[in-house]
Amino acid sequence: MSGESEISTGARELSAVPTPGRARQAGFAAAALAAATAAALLLRPHATPPDLVAVYLLAVLAVAVRCERPVSVVTSFVSVAAFDFFCVPPYLTLRISQYGDLITFAGMLAVSLVISAQTARIRAQADEAAAREAQTAALYQLARLLAGQTRTFDVIRTAADLAGKAARARVVIFVPEEGAIDFGRRSSEWLPVPKAEEKAAQWVLDRARNAGRGTPQFADSAAVYIPMKGAREMAGVMAALPEEGDVLADAQVAMLELFATQIALAIERTQSQNAAESARIRMQTEQMRSSLLSAVSHDLRTPLASITGAASTLRQQGDRLDLRTRQDLLESIAEEAERLGRIVGNLLDMTRLESGVELRRELYPLEEIVGAALQRMDAQLAGRKVITAIPEELPLVFADDVLLGQLVGNLIENAAKYTPSGAEIEVAAEAHEGCVMLEVRDRGPGIPDGEQDRIFEKFYRGRSAGSRGAGLGLAICRAIAEAHRGSIKAFNRQGGGAVFRVVLPLEKAQ
Ligand code: ADP
Repeated sequence: MSGESEISTGARELSAVPTPGRARQAGFAAAALAAATAAALLLRPHATPPDLVAVYLLAVLAVAVRCERPVSVVTSFVSVAAFDFFCVPPYLTLRISQYGDLITFAGMLAVSLVISAQTARIRAQADEAAAREAQTAALYQLARLLAGQTRTFDVIRTAADLAGKAARARVVIFVPEEGAIDFGRRSSEWLPVPKAEEKAAQWVLDRARNAGRGTPQFADSAAVYIPMKGAREMAGVMAALPEEGDVLADAQVAMLELFATQIALAIERTQSQNAAESARIRMQTEQMRSSLLSAVSHDLRTPLASITGAASTLRQQGDRLDLRTRQDLLESIAEEAERLGRIVGNLLDMTRLESGVELRRELYPLEEIVGAALQRMDAQLAGRKVITAIPEELPLVFADDVLLGQLVGNLIENAAKYTPSGAEIEVAAEAHEGCVMLEVRDRGPGIPDGEQDRIFEKFYRGRSAGSRGAGLGLAICRAIAEAHRGSIKAFNRQGGGAVFRVVLPLEKAQ
């Protein structure tokens, strides 16, 4: 990932502009002094000693740029001695013949020391700027990677990885559970932190202070432990072991502390998101339960009340009633019982579909499935005109015929239920881009804006007058369409009415 490579370059810069080892620095200083001496010896016949000072100052400057301050300070002194030895008469001795030379030496030494001091300062500033830049880049990278994480475990794993790379350490993050660190919930399965040190981590969680190697507390631990303070409470503890060497440098610890704060905030963010999400799910479940209760109490009780009422009237006054009234009462019992049966059937279907029913799929002509559904719905259609437009060359659909038939039946039933008795219903199908598209169209009131998605929710009943179902018919349709890897949508038709469109992918039988 490009982000991660940015981090590792950043981390390299954290240790500032690389300087060679002390021995190599000394070698470089010796070479610079030797070169300056050779040049001075060459120029000596043509120049006065103060002119040759510049040659040595150049060597000091070169050393100050490449090497650390102690090396350039020593070079400053050695260059004054070399200048005296080789360029000031009497040659090849450190003795001086004129007091004026002392002024030259003092001036030369002062300028050399100023050069080393200033160069060292500039280098330190450049190092600091580079480290700061690396730190900013690493933190930015961290923020970017953590923004997309929604699970606490993913946050700590990504963050520990990144912090480790940036500070060149091995990092593990522990997250507490009700005030105590759960050592099972660590960012890495790999256990660089010895078990004996769990006490140190808990101490850090309780006191919110650094502990472990390089600190006064638990100094003999292998790792350093850094508290991860969130905005509200302690979000965890970060344990870090140096990748090389024995103790982490101050700059590495400082970097990890910065990371720890950012990660703590990210952990808190995911935790509150998760809490909000479970509250939302709880609320939805609650809502669903109350809808179910109201559906059950209303939709089941109304037909039951009618049945009980009609049946007891028949029992108590049966012989006193005329034949027609008796007939009416019996019809209403049959009708209500049928309605009750449909609602209970729908509830059972929904439960069955939700528990992941296994499809019995085969290749069927869609026309056959639609025809069977229309036949079953004959009573509900009550002589209404239904126009079917299913082309003969339509490919076979790979479906569970019982379920798909139920889907089509529910749509036809709704079209009959929610439209005036004389209105036509159309059932049309066509093949389209590797799918079969089936539409049930009516000329009823259509679906009010804002309800087109909601009518597919369980127990949702629209505002349309006279709706008497449990709000499950379309939820069942959607569950069946999705079980076939398809989809269902509702929209309004030009000129009035609703269209329900089912799209099923054309799959081969396996
Ligand atoms: P119900 O048991 O209430 O019929 P459904 O899930 O089948 O439950 O339908 C949900 C809601 O969608 C209905 O209450 C109704 O308002 C609306 N609806 C369904 N089909 C149509 C249609 N053909 N025309 C207008 N509204 C419809």
